[in-house]
Amino acid sequence: MNTSVDQLREQLKALADHYAQELPDKLAEIEQAFQGALRNGWQSDDADQLRRKLHSMAGAAGTFGFEAVGKSAREVEQQVLAAMENAVKIDTRFEQQLNGKLSGLISIGEQALQSGIEIVAPEVNRLKPVDANRLFIYISANQTAVPSLQLQLLHYGYKLSVFSRIDELARAFDSALPLALVVDCSLSGVDEEVTHWLQQQVAGSGDFRTPMLFIAPETDFKSRMQAVNAGSVAYFTPPLDVTELFERLVSINQLQEEMPYDVLIVDDDVDLAQHYSLLLTHAGMRTQVVNRPEEVLDKLADFRPDVVLMDLYMPEYTGFEVASLIRQDKSYVGVPIVFLSSETRSDRQLYALGIGGDEFLTKPIADDYLVASVRYRARRARELDVVMSSDSLTGLLKHTRIKEELHKEARRSVRQNEALAFAMIDVDYFKKVNDTYGHQIGDRVLKSLSHLLRQRLRVSDAIGRYGGEEFAVVLPNTDREGAVAVLESLRESFAEIVHEADDKSFKVTVSIGVVICQGCSNSELLIEQADRALYRAKQNGRNQLVVEEVSQD
Ligand code: GH3
Ligand code: MG
Ligand code: MG
Repeated sequence: MNTSVDQLREQLKALADHYAQELPDKLAEIEQAFQGALRNGWQSDDADQLRRKLHSMAGAAGTFGFEAVGKSAREVEQQVLAAMENAVKIDTRFEQQLNGKLSGLISIGEQALQSGIEIVAPEVNRLKPVDANRLFIYISANQTAVPSLQLQLLHYGYKLSVFSRIDELARAFDSALPLALVVDCSLSGVDEEVTHWLQQQVAGSGDFRTPMLFIAPETDFKSRMQAVNAGSVAYFTPPLDVTELFERLVSINQLQEEMPYDVLIVDDDVDLAQHYSLLLTHAGMRTQVVNRPEEVLDKLADFRPDVVLMDLYMPEYTGFEVASLIRQDKSYVGVPIVFLSSETRSDRQLYALGIGGDEFLTKPIADDYLVASVRYRARRARELDVVMSSDSLTGLLKHTRIKEELHKEARRSVRQNEALAFAMIDVDYFKKVNDTYGHQIGDRVLKSLSHLLRQRLRVSDAIGRYGGEEFAVVLPNTDREGAVAVLESLRESFAEIVHEADDKSFKVTVSIGVVICQGCSNSELLIEQADRALYRAKQNGRNQLVVEEVSQD
């Protein structure tokens, strides 16, 4: 049995038990508010309280396993609403009818409590995790290893596991999934044994989703089709262009390595918010919860979610108001707001979309439906964000975006009292590369630098193309030692990469200026300082790192 599903079930059960414990009190409060409304009329605070309590029961009870209770609460709520909006004739008969419905709700609640609830945790098909830094290389048995390929890939920061026997390769797959499998048959020709084995794997299990890249000398249709049938996504013929191979690996990496989606849950109901949080976390997302709308702006700035899941009716402020407030800030324009409420009136739902909401889901909602809709929203938002904010040549953040990231991280580092490193990286004598080998080869050099940056830096680091051949990286929570270690190793690795131009090969270096600061909120000043450090690195002879350590404010 899947223990993580068991665990989820247990946690969901604990929340549901808690709800069950409180249900008698909630029903008693509803009864009390009803008596108050009878005494003080349908425009009174009591009536409003009654409606609110019924509304949240309609949304929450079903989620915690009390579906009949939720349904009944919704019916009563609709009657109460009608009374409050003067949509019905309020007389003794109406109030008696309502009283009857309310007693019905209370007895349904009592019955449900007696018979107990069963929690069914959604099964999430979890695949084996992928180690995005590890590459498996299969080298066809009747050839010697190709050490230059291995060496080049090592420079890009991959951990390599090399096999020349199918059984060893198969065992490796049992324990971990690599980013990709490179099948090197460059001397032997397409290897029947490995293609046969791979074909079986692909046909036999949906789990075998590892992208495969073939290197083989044959150019005929049949051989290439054999590789395709074995699951290959790319086919190279020798002599191998390592940059090209690497580019394919990086694009595979970007597809695989979906950073977990971040979801901000805004709901005043603590247990309900916790319930959603558990579900989304179990499905691989990261969540933060805001129970008080007042905290939403700070949380947004800190957490930068991919999606906001917004409750509608909360004390003090409605989700409409909170969403309108969020939409006033254009830096959140791309963040989808998904309303989640037991509000069923279509005019209210439309209104929510009109003020900038992206979707309206109604409570109670099936767990897997919630997870799926949040995931698709987040994915789409990420895709759009990537297109809008990235440089077309390198895929890195554009100038303005990397500055925004620096600004945001600088503010965060002050709040968290952490160190922040910001580096500017400039290619040495790049003009000469263009002049000697042509602009296209120059572009390839820039791409290989951007690949290396992506490969080496953490996903939490922001990487941008600051200008032509100048790059900028923001390293949150990084001190001098950490920054120097990673940037020096980057500089050294880049200098080792062999670039190819027709029949010539050459190497290129970079100069790096980095500023490290604790408690600096002025990002413009950080840029100036990193720029100055970079200038010194150039002056001192290039291919080096200069560190500037400053304190500000
Ligand atoms: P230094 O070591 O002082 O940095 O010398 P450098 O030659 O790298 O610097 P310089 O600023 O003199 O030249 C940078 C060159 O980069 C000039 C420009 O044509 C080229 N460049 C800028 N953007 C691109 C690009 O997108 N692709 C290519 N191929 N070249 C570019
Ligand atoms: Mg609420
Ligand atoms: Mg330069």
